[in-house]
Amino acid sequence: MNWHPQDLRTLLLLLGAGFLIGWLFGQPGWGLFVGAVVFIVLQQREFRDFAGWSDRPLRRPANKRESWQDVGNSLFRSVARSRGRTHAALRQLRTMRTLAEAMPDAVVVIDGTGNIDQFNDAAISMLNLTRNDRGGNLASLVRQPDFVSLVRGQLSDNLLEFASPFAEGVRLEARRIDFDDDRALILVRDVTQLNRLLSMRQDFIANVSHELRTPLTVIVGYIETLISEDLDQETINALVQKLISPSRRMQALVDDLLLLTRLEASPTPLPEELVSIDMATLIDAVVADGRAMSQGKHQLEVSVEGAASVLGIESELHSACSNLVSNAVRYSPDGGTIEVSWMPVDGGARFSVRDHGIGIPAEHLSRITERFYRVDLARARIRGGTGLGLAIVKHVLKRHHSELRVESELGVGSNFYFDVPQRQLAEPSSGQREAGTVYHLK
Ligand code: ADP
Repeated sequence: MNWHPQDLRTLLLLLGAGFLIGWLFGQPGWGLFVGAVVFIVLQQREFRDFAGWSDRPLRRPANKRESWQDVGNSLFRSVARSRGRTHAALRQLRTMRTLAEAMPDAVVVIDGTGNIDQFNDAAISMLNLTRNDRGGNLASLVRQPDFVSLVRGQLSDNLLEFASPFAEGVRLEARRIDFDDDRALILVRDVTQLNRLLSMRQDFIANVSHELRTPLTVIVGYIETLISEDLDQETINALVQKLISPSRRMQALVDDLLLLTRLEASPTPLPEELVSIDMATLIDAVVADGRAMSQGKHQLEVSVEGAASVLGIESELHSACSNLVSNAVRYSPDGGTIEVSWMPVDGGARFSVRDHGIGIPAEHLSRITERFYRVDLARARIRGGTGLGLAIVKHVLKRHHSELRVESELGVGSNFYFDVPQRQLAEPSSGQREAGTVYHLK
């Protein structure tokens, strides 16, 4: 046994003193005995203090004797170290929990029998769980046959897409990840939007291919006739002329596609990129194009009230207004009147194109700005157009803080219009209007 020097000194002192006093009284044996008893009592007191401290060893031990202090101190250091480690682990656990809660995907931890151990908030909304479902069986709470198989580990690739049994039209993707020996993580995410985007992309590719294939087939047909037959010059000229229209159609489609892609990909223009566009001039140009397109078959009337300039990107606004006028011409019968107007309205100014043409049935109105959406596909093809016009208008107006509106009645006509907010209306800072000059927002 290793004695602490202080304890050894005390013991020897007490035994020596006891022996001396006992010897004086002729009882040295009793003296030694009393000395040893005092030493034991002293140690007993220290032990009691130590035991009291060890219940809550949050501070350094208060023992008076060094031997006890040494033991207490090393115990205190080891407790402090493990408390530090516990705190760090708790902090990590809290971070993990916060992360799991912040995740938009549902996370559920299940045991080997499918009973729920943990889940996050997203699981409550996505899988219709409640706080009381901890301990419940996931397969009985979400009764979708394929999901049940996934929870039971019966799917070979541990991945599944299924229709949410709780929300109509919502598609969910669930994945099972096994961990530990008998526990598993079930991750569920909402893939409705992703699926919609994928199918939009597929539709878009199919539409573009279809739109290009039609004029291309016509062109190939004429070219084959041109090269395979022995034709006189007059017929050759006539056939070559026929190539122009489908080629232009393809060119228009590619131009519109490029414009739309550019509009969709570009950020909202910065104030310094905007120029002051004189609307009277722009409307004149757009109506002149409309008249050329109509070839005198329609009456285009123009009214510009309260001349104003719009802060914007000229080519884009020209394209938007021109699309609306060309639609009015294309969807109006010969002899129809088209009114193009610009007028002040509450909070800004309005550009409108009113026709008395074929009109649009109410159920189609919400979709006509979708790419390639046509109310009557066959009719739209005959009348030309790329199917992208209103999609372009929508994007241009969005970039100019405006919105396309339409009022239409089948067989009566349509009124397409948009309001330019007051802050997009410009006044030349020098009083002199100049094309291309940059003006500040009002
Ligand atoms: P398109 O090139 O086919 O005209 P748009 O995007 O310009 O494509 O228009 C989408 C659809 O909206 C058209 O196919 C047509 O059915 C309908 N539409 C657009 N403008 C008018 C209008 N002024 N009158 C009637 N229908 C219209």
